[in-house]
Amino acid sequence: MSAENLSLQYTQDRALELIANAGEIAAQVNEVSKRVDNGKSAKLVCVSKLKPASDIQALYDAGYRHFGENYVQELIEKSKVLPKDIKWHFIGGLQTNKCKDLAKNIDNLYAVETIDSIKKLNKLNDQRSQTEFPVINIYIQVNTSGEELKSGCPPGEVVELATFIKEKCPKLNLEGLMTIGSIANSKSDAENEDFKTLVKCASEVESLLGGTLQLSMGMSSDFEEAIRQGSTSVRVGSNIFGSRPPNNGH
Ligand SMILES: *Cc1c(COP(=O)(O)O)cnc(C)c1O
Repeated sequence: MSAENLSLQYTQDRALELIANAGEIAAQVNEVSKRVDNGKSAKLVCVSKLKPASDIQALYDAGYRHFGENYVQELIEKSKVLPKDIKWHFIGGLQTNKCKDLAKNIDNLYAVETIDSIKKLNKLNDQRSQTEFPVINIYIQVNTSGEELKSGCPPGEVVELATFIKEKCPKLNLEGLMTIGSIANSKSDAENEDFKTLVKCASEVESLLGGTLQLSMGMSSDFEEAIRQGSTSVRVGSNIFGSRPPNNGH
């Protein structure tokens, strides 16, 4: 991030635009949540990747606290300049060798949502153990669509990873499961098969290990359907911040 992108100074016009967009999404999230199951509102994570720190500051000043980022270095730089009570969600593709940077540099890292291997769990737990920072919440990412290029563990491995967190990772807390899902399933009018698979994985873990898992599913294009199918945490970027610049350099 350039110095300019790390400035916290926003214009009033931009702030009004962001607050209107986020307010509209938050209202939709509440409205759909009210009509499902326990009526508890799903959490809104504002996905701010590739957007300037001033955008985040504007939404922070309006009361938003959960933000999602995709790139380790960008998140570290933003977390250094932005308020310490922001709850950061790392939602990007994660290489094992970047787990150390995430664990050691961001004390207010709320969650890592893209864990799909024992190796990454071990790395994150070991590195966090060398700090005084709080526990990191973990979402196991599941490749529910079986697409070859998608990250996430196969549904059949979720129980093993969940058990490993509970038994071997004192600096990590299993908070839930996460999926991105296929574009085809997102566009279909029928029930989304990826969301269905994630719900099934969660039930399996809950019945074997107890507790209740959160479900991180749904983005700008499909968060309403995701909530109808049980999502408790939606990740919305472009509907709030507008389209993103091309992702050069990552
Ligand atoms: C970028 C991203 C989002 C937000 O996507 P939008 O379509 O802009 O809402 C959500 N989840 C993940 C994992 C992402 O990488």
